[in-house]
Amino acid sequence: MTDESISCVVVAAGRGTRAGFDYNKVFHMLNGRSVLNRCLDALSQSGFFREIVLVLSESDMDAYRKLCMKEGACPSVSHIVPGGSTRSHSVRNGLNVLRKDTDIVLIHDGARPFISREMIAAVIEDVKKYGSGVICTPVTDTVKMTDGNGFAVSTPDRSLLRAVQTPQGFRYADIMEAYSAFGETETATDDAAVYERRFSKVKLTDAPNAEKNIKLTTPVDFARAENAPVLPRIGTGYDVHRLVEDRKLILCGVDVPYEKGLLGHSDADVALHAVMDALLGAAAMGDIGHLFPDSDERYKGISSLILLDETRKALEANGFTAYNVDVTIVCQRPKLAPYIAEMRENIARTLRLPVSFIGVKATTTERLGFEGEGLGISAQAVATVIRK
Ligand code: MG
Repeated sequence: MTDESISCVVVAAGRGTRAGFDYNKVFHMLNGRSVLNRCLDALSQSGFFREIVLVLSESDMDAYRKLCMKEGACPSVSHIVPGGSTRSHSVRNGLNVLRKDTDIVLIHDGARPFISREMIAAVIEDVKKYGSGVICTPVTDTVKMTDGNGFAVSTPDRSLLRAVQTPQGFRYADIMEAYSAFGETETATDDAAVYERRFSKVKLTDAPNAEKNIKLTTPVDFARAENAPVLPRIGTGYDVHRLVEDRKLILCGVDVPYEKGLLGHSDADVALHAVMDALLGAAAMGDIGHLFPDSDERYKGISSLILLDETRKALEANGFTAYNVDVTIVCQRPKLAPYIAEMRENIARTLRLPVSFIGVKATTTERLGFEGEGLGISAQAVATVIRK
């Protein structure tokens, strides 16, 4: 889509101190995936870049290797280079390893994982037209220039103010020249400032949804990003047990008076078995046969409410939490209506959810099939789980 070769330098050599972590904030997990992985993936999937260079502190190289093993991350990264003592040094190190025939380079913060293809495209367009392009957003607060002692000295026209982000894009030769003219001991908070020093005006790029391209810096930023709407995951469960004499009939933890009961290794609570399978299915964690094998004597005669509690703990250990459950018990006799409220309470209490998030229903099959003939009881469930 372009005849010019475009590359990207991702700067992630900072620390997490302002975010309150004792590690580099780009390694922080955001709803199950690291900030850095999200950022690199977004850049690579945009399809624009020939090379992606990652700048990391020496002390983070090990953490990065572990991340790659864990998340299968970042095959798109062509070089990893060590950062310097300042942001400007780190950027220089990244720029220096790019292929010399690079036409355009975008410099991006590793702590901005919400970068989109449209934003990248807009920056590249501006670099092609104007020689530079820097993502920016309008400023919503009124801004004061201060005298440094707590007094405002002027109020710039807000409509002319822009807050700048990354990516910041430049002709590769220009930004190399700007950096080599920039003093080793000088510092700048962004690359546009380095460029401006040498080439005057930088083009400010208006990109769609740039306000979403936040830099994760403070604990509040991380909390907001984590509370972004998360799609629930849905699972289904189905189970059947045979009705026999001399067994208790336990359904959703309720001892239902009846002349027969369900046969099974545990208490044979067919309804809870369907619920557990739905929960495990939603998290893609297998099924209850896998978690609580029949062959294990510990589970002989055990209350399925205990197994449901174990299922909840297993979900939690994998970063999931149950959100809602709906189960239908297919049973000709006995009538279950008097027990439904207690059944819902049992599930709600065990899963630590409000009763209003638990559905329990019972139906007959008009005397059709094994349930209708009273040979057994079946149950079907759906459940949703969300990432914590
Ligand atoms: Mg079962």
